[in-house]
Amino acid sequence: MKRSSPALTIALIASLSTSIASLSTCSLRAEENIKVLITDGPQKAHNHQETTPVLKQILNKDSRFEVDHSRSTKEGCEDGSYRPDFSKYDVVVMNEGFGAADWPAATQKAFEEYMASGGGMVAIHAANNCWPNWVEYNKMTGLGGWGGRNEKSGPYLYIDAEGKVVRDTSNGRGGAHGPQHEFELVVRNPQHPIMQGLPPKFKHGPDELYDKLRGPAENVTILATAFSSKERRGTGRHEPALMVVSYGKGRIFHSILGHHVTQIKEGSFVTTFLRGTEWAATGKVTIPVPEDFPNQKFE
Ligand code: ZN
Repeated sequence: MKRSSPALTIALIASLSTSIASLSTCSLRAEENIKVLITDGPQKAHNHQETTPVLKQILNKDSRFEVDHSRSTKEGCEDGSYRPDFSKYDVVVMNEGFGAADWPAATQKAFEEYMASGGGMVAIHAANNCWPNWVEYNKMTGLGGWGGRNEKSGPYLYIDAEGKVVRDTSNGRGGAHGPQHEFELVVRNPQHPIMQGLPPKFKHGPDELYDKLRGPAENVTILATAFSSKERRGTGRHEPALMVVSYGKGRIFHSILGHHVTQIKEGSFVTTFLRGTEWAATGKVTIPVPEDFPNQKFE
């Protein structure tokens, strides 16, 4: 048997390791890059011009997120020219709000198809206020508030004292909040990837605690609740604060937190937003919970 020369063996090993290295770099890159589109546009009651850059900064703390931004205009919504290409993204973060202009019908349709075929969406705070008449969008958020929402929008959804999920079809407005205050989030689904490793209870705020949200409430899993106390003009119920919703093959993370810049810089928001965005994009969560959560500082 002819033995290969040491030089040839070394050359072979070298070329083999180069191939392995490039292979693993390739697969790691494919696994790691998460393409995010943040959308916002003209709205009332919330300042997207100030919050969107901070959401971008938060996502950019993790080098795997590649973040683009798309801002609609009233004119572009009216003349149909507002048409972001959702198919380029793993997840769309809705920084939309109360009073947002209706997206053009073709753009709504494109987004519905993107989601139904396995897209990802993150709805934060006021993103559940907009577009009360866009039926499919309301299925994606599961629950919403304001904009004339009432019993026709679907049931109220909350958790009772025994820990049972209640679908309450009684009449009444959708969406309310008392004065901003600090409140506690109670984890209801510790096994969900977004919640694994979070403490069973953690603080958030001062922020607006949305309550009386109502909507189709189909395929909604409540991850965490906050108690809306009557002393704070609340409902006396455990209201959904963090949720996931499925829409076709699509995944949605819905957080009621984050009224403005101060609130989205809080540790509770930052960690749940990052993990929720990763989950909506990939179905998995690898972003760790900081040791000092929720008191870690965001700079
Ligand atoms: Zn708000």
